[in-house]
Amino acid sequence: MSVTFGVLAEHNDKRVALVPKNVEKLVGMGATVLVEHSAGQNAGFADEMYQQAGATGATQEDLLTKADILLSIYPPERERLAKFPAGKILVSQFRPYFDEDVVSYLQQHQLQAFSLDMIPRSTLAQRMDVLSSMASIAGYQAVLAAARLLPRFFPMMITAAGSIKPAKVLIIGAGVAGLQAIATAKRLGAIVEAFDVRAAAREEVQSLGARFVEVEGAKDDATAGGYAVEQTEEFKKKQAALIQEHARQADVVITTAQVRGRKAPILVEADTVGQMRPGSVIVDLAASTGGNCALTQDEKTIVHEGVTILGHSDLAKEMPQNASELFSNNLFNFLELLVKEGELFIDESNEIVSSTLITK
Ligand code: NAD
Repeated sequence: MSVTFGVLAEHNDKRVALVPKNVEKLVGMGATVLVEHSAGQNAGFADEMYQQAGATGATQEDLLTKADILLSIYPPERERLAKFPAGKILVSQFRPYFDEDVVSYLQQHQLQAFSLDMIPRSTLAQRMDVLSSMASIAGYQAVLAAARLLPRFFPMMITAAGSIKPAKVLIIGAGVAGLQAIATAKRLGAIVEAFDVRAAAREEVQSLGARFVEVEGAKDDATAGGYAVEQTEEFKKKQAALIQEHARQADVVITTAQVRGRKAPILVEADTVGQMRPGSVIVDLAASTGGNCALTQDEKTIVHEGVTILGHSDLAKEMPQNASELFSNNLFNFLELLVKEGELFIDESNEIVSSTLITK
């Protein structure tokens, strides 16, 4: 029997998990695709576009009763999940590292779940890596958000009324989001510096024209799958002192540092914020895992002694059209692993399949 996918409308998010281009490809592979009414509306993908791509419009009830595999960016709330019959499949981002209850809840309801945030960081899996796609957008958005909040220009300006110095931007964590933030801040004309604990980041930072700030003695584990590892107490002290010195000079600090499966490291202490110039801006992209700044409040913008601290990890949602397109491309590349000749085929010997399958 041909497999039926259901694309859920997200609640509180303008993005959609699958865009019409990829619906067309799934239909071409022999699958049926149901799309909840208005699911893509806020991202610029009208219901008619889905119909033209071969999807069938559906109510939420239809989706929950007829789909074999439900697709969404965020896991559906428990209320909706409770209506999804046992034995069916969900593909979403469940964050099992942070939501301890999710696996037992899904198991209790006998639902199989693939968590896209568990995709391994291998060359083969790169085309399915939703975390990287969204991080890249978030890095870009972080700079735009900072530029809007900063009471100064980013570029140097020479005008008849006087000259303006370029803004100084400090990026902490030069991974996917950090590198995109560096590139964006450079394009806007700022002077950019960046920190990271992975040795590989140095060359990438320098190739974007930014200055790499080195803290000696970082622990860098090549077997950690591209992820950073927890640092020693001695390193943390040295790093905190250097970050304080550089943050004091910066107009904007963008923090992106994450350690997989752990709370984000605190790298900008309250005391450091107190020493920054009034009007400066901190954008903390690690807010959802505790934040890199001690004062960050997740999903909130606060002002502390004149410094604005924006705590938002999911800034990709601010650019719903491109974010949906990239997410959908990643998702389609992943779904190709699960469908053979229009039918469901779960090959657990495939590393990408087994790493993402969090309940079965
Ligand atoms: P991430 O979101 O886990 O962390 C962001 C950055 O914070 C990383 O560069 C990390 O080294 C840094 N960081 C962590 N602790 C820090 C600390 N105490 N001080 C300073 N910086 C700290 O990582 P990411 O951005 O997703 O990716 C990191 C690397 O992995 C990149 O080089 C990326 O290209 C690579 N990657 C590869 C694949 C793939 O091959 N499929 C996929 C994703 C990422």
